Parts: sequence; structure tokens; C-alpha cells
Amino acid sequence: MHHHNLFLQFEAHFRQTPDKTLIDTPEGRRYSYAEMLETSQRLAGVLQSLDVQPGDRVAVQVDKSPEAIMLYLACLQAGAVYLPLNTGYTGAEIAYFLGDAAPQLYVCPPARASDANRFYQEGLVVHVESLGTAGDGSLMERAADAEPMTEIACLEADDLAAILYTSGTTGRSKGAMLSHANLASNSRALAEAWRFTADDHLLHALPIFHTHGLFVACNIVLTVGASMTFLPRLDVEQLLDLMPRATVLMGVPTFYTRLLQSPRLDRDAVANMRLFVSGSAPLLAETHDQFREQTGHVILERYGMTETNMNTSNPYDGERRPGTVGFPLPGSEVRITDRDSGAELPRGETGLVEVRGDNVFRGYWQMPEKTRSEFRDDGFFITGDLGRIDADGYLHIVGRDKDLVISGGYNAYPKEVEQLIDELPGVAESAVFGVRHPDLGEGVTAVIVAREGETAPDEAAVQAALADRLAGYKQPKRVFTIEALPRNVMGKVQKNQLRDAYADLYAVKEAAA
Ligand code: ATP
Ligand code: MG
Repeated sequence: MHHHNLFLQFEAHFRQTPDKTLIDTPEGRRYSYAEMLETSQRLAGVLQSLDVQPGDRVAVQVDKSPEAIMLYLACLQAGAVYLPLNTGYTGAEIAYFLGDAAPQLYVCPPARASDANRFYQEGLVVHVESLGTAGDGSLMERAADAEPMTEIACLEADDLAAILYTSGTTGRSKGAMLSHANLASNSRALAEAWRFTADDHLLHALPIFHTHGLFVACNIVLTVGASMTFLPRLDVEQLLDLMPRATVLMGVPTFYTRLLQSPRLDRDAVANMRLFVSGSAPLLAETHDQFREQTGHVILERYGMTETNMNTSNPYDGERRPGTVGFPLPGSEVRITDRDSGAELPRGETGLVEVRGDNVFRGYWQMPEKTRSEFRDDGFFITGDLGRIDADGYLHIVGRDKDLVISGGYNAYPKEVEQLIDELPGVAESAVFGVRHPDLGEGVTAVIVAREGETAPDEAAVQAALADRLAGYKQPKRVFTIEALPRNVMGKVQKNQLRDAYADLYAVKEAAA
């Protein structure tokens, strides 16, 4: 049996470049490879003393910090399943996730330390600890006198490295089980596709409880032995200050729209950068074009999800096509199928996006039925996204299957309507969604956000503008102007919230019981 552990993919760099900085902070604090390894080995020793066994879950809800990455590395070395939780979750939400995941240990934010004991009393976890810093009775303080654990848990390829909850954009978050092999193969494929080397320096301003910031960003850096600066959150001025000594930025679309608002963004500001990546939500073609004009850089858009890591990417060399998410990564296959019959569709036709490959997860934690229903017999995972592959093989994401509006029996793709509305004068952005309708089943409904200092067109103006550009069933029945689209931290539009807010718009009468 082969010895598997994602950590083995990182290990050589800790030995070969111990003095090199792995993570630094905007304030100038540096954490070398040696220091990160040493402390992570001591943390692994603490995990052992808390009786965390290989396969046990360690739930981690802590602010972004190099110490959190030490804990991640400790879990990998100990064979524990790393289970990061959104730092924004409140007590009730945490209770749900702890109940679902049954972790051996919950590492909480210091602010929650007193409150967190109730999770222990309620029997949801065996141990509660805060990560903290030296001198406060926390995990970090215990690590200071712990015996370092220097051996690396010997695992099998399918053993779990992490359980990562999905963002909950379309419903309750599900725990995606990711194996060591899933994560190891995906970061190797990405490092190669994006030409990462040890000389790269990544600007890291994403949260680390999400697949993008943790498994894409950190795992690539660790795989090639590069370095990164941890920014606690998106701060455009800080990013621009740091760009002269960085080479890569990984961001969500909001990063780029915000950067474009800074008068400092020009060719000189990005002269040292070699790559700008965008993902987690669709990048507007307009943002893509403006960024190219202002900086000379063509943003590389890619597509992934919690369950599958990264599926597709625009090419590093070759045309990066705006409005597309590129080609499958090596080791990953993508196909489009008919949402009713399940048959594979030819190029150009829109249907369900399905993915198969080493990157695809082991299933949803404690949801065997759900897992079965999302996989085809031949191993393809039904992502829940809708898309099409164009004549040149580029994948276009058209939206979410759950956001599809079925109006009078016809499929209306919100993105098609949004794109037309976004082109109207005075419109910054829009969201189109379905609301229950007594005659149509669902009525196409739109909200629009005005450009700063401008007035958005009203309902009649939008309807008039779209009248000869869209078939009747795609026309928005109602159009509202709102201040801003509801978005989560990863920049995803929360259409559930919009559907809820307008649920009674067309006043469907409940059938009498
Ligand atoms: P949940 O599954 O709980 O509803 P979620 O799907 O938003 O939440 P994530 O796994 O964080 O949770 O997000 C993955 C989704 O993000 C993809 O399925 C896709 O819809 C969207 N996405 C990611 N990258 C892109 C992109 N470049 N363009 C368009 N959509 C993207
Ligand atoms: Mg999802």
C-alpha cells in the first residue's frame, strides 16, 4: 500500500528552504517554513494529547492568521479531518454544524470561548479550545510546551483530509468530504496550469474557511514552495501597496471591480505581477475589459466548487475568453447533459454541467441519499450549474439549475436576461429570478441597481427595451430598482433572499387543504 498524505506534497519545501518566508503580513511579520513546520508539529502533539485520532474531525472557526494554517498543517500530519467554519456563523449555526460533524475538537474564536462551553455541555464536542496566542491558556500556548509530533500519519488515498461545508447559496450547506488524493491532485494540476514556481508571491485576501482561499490558494503555495502575504480582508490600498513585491492575485470578481475604482491602478502599479485570477462568481465582461485597458493584464477566470475543487480554467498561454471559464484541468472531464433526459448534449447546447475526475469529492457527509442522487452511474457529478461548451471548447456557465425560471413551461435562463438589462444605460447590475405565478408557474422578475450618480430605467423602460430582444416568456413581468444586490463574502448573489423577498408578488393563492 502506497503511503498517502497531502502533507507529503508540501514536505520537501520545509526541509529544503527552512529559512524562506512562507507567510507574511502587511505589518511585516514573517513566518518561515521552519517556524510553520515546528509549530504545526507541536500543535499535532497537542491534538494527540486531546486524543484526536486519524479520521476524527477538528472543527476550526478562527480568524484568518498564519496560526490557523499551522493548525491546518497539524491536522494533515495527524491524519485528522480539517473542518473549517465560516467565522460569521452565530451560536445557533455553529451548534448545527457541530451536531452534524460530531468533531472531537472545536477550535473557537477567543470571543466565543466562554459561550463555546455550552457545546461541550450539550455533548456536541469532546473538547473546546481557543486558538489564541501564547500566554492565554489556548492551543497556541499549549503548543509552546508540547512534544512535537514528527511522524506523518500514514493514510490511504481516499482517506479524508477535510470536510468543507458548501456556501449555502441554494439551500442548507452540505459537508463535502474531500480526500487527500482529491486535494493533492488538484493543487498539482493547478500549479502546473498556472505555472507556479517557488519564486511566486501570492497576495492572499480571501477568507480561509472556503475552498478558494484554503484549497486553491494555500495548497498551491505549499505545493510549489512559494510564499504569500495574508491580508485579513480585501483592502484595495493595501493590495496596491503590496503589488510591487508580489506576482499573483487570486480574487473574486468584487476584488477587480473595487481595484478598478482606485485611481492608483495603472500599468506601473501591476508591473511586477504576472497573473490575476478570478473565480467563485461570474466576472462581468465589462470588468474584464476595463481591467485589461487599465493594466494590460487579462484576468484569468476559472470555475470550481466546494465539492470538486477546481474544474476548469482559462488557459495560461492562449486566449482567455471573457464570459467563459475555459477548459477542464488535466485529470478532470466536463460534459453537458439534458436536464430532463440526462443525455449528453452536443457543443453549443445548454444543459447541466457534469464533472468527473480525481478532483471530485467522496460524497456529502452523512447524506448518502443526496450523494447518490447527485452522481451518475458512470461517476460524473451533477454540479447543479447550467452551462454550454462553445465551438472552441470553452465552457460558459449560464447559471444555476435551481435559478432556472420555468415560465409557462419554457426555460428562461436568468443570465441571458441579466446580460441584456446590464447593457441598458444607467444600469450597474441586475439579478433575474423566478417568483411563483398563478398562470405561468413562475414569473420572470428582475431587480436592478443603478450606476452611481445615475438613474436606472424604470419597469416600463426595461420592458420596452427588451420587447424585441427576448421571447415573451423571458420578459420580466416586474422590475424593481434596489440599492445593492444581496451578496455573501465570496461575492455570490443570494437569489434565495430575492425569491423570499418577492415571494408574494404575483399573489399565488394557496390551494385549500
Ligand atoms: P451551495 O452549494 O451550498 O448552494 P455554493 O454552490 O455557492 O453553495 P460553493 O461551492 O462555494 O457553494 O460555490 C460553487 C459555485 O460557485 C459553483 O457551483 C458555481 O455556481 C459558482 N461559481 C464558481 N466559479 C464561478 C465562475 N467563474 N463563474 C460562475 N459561477 C461560478
Ligand atoms: Mg453548490
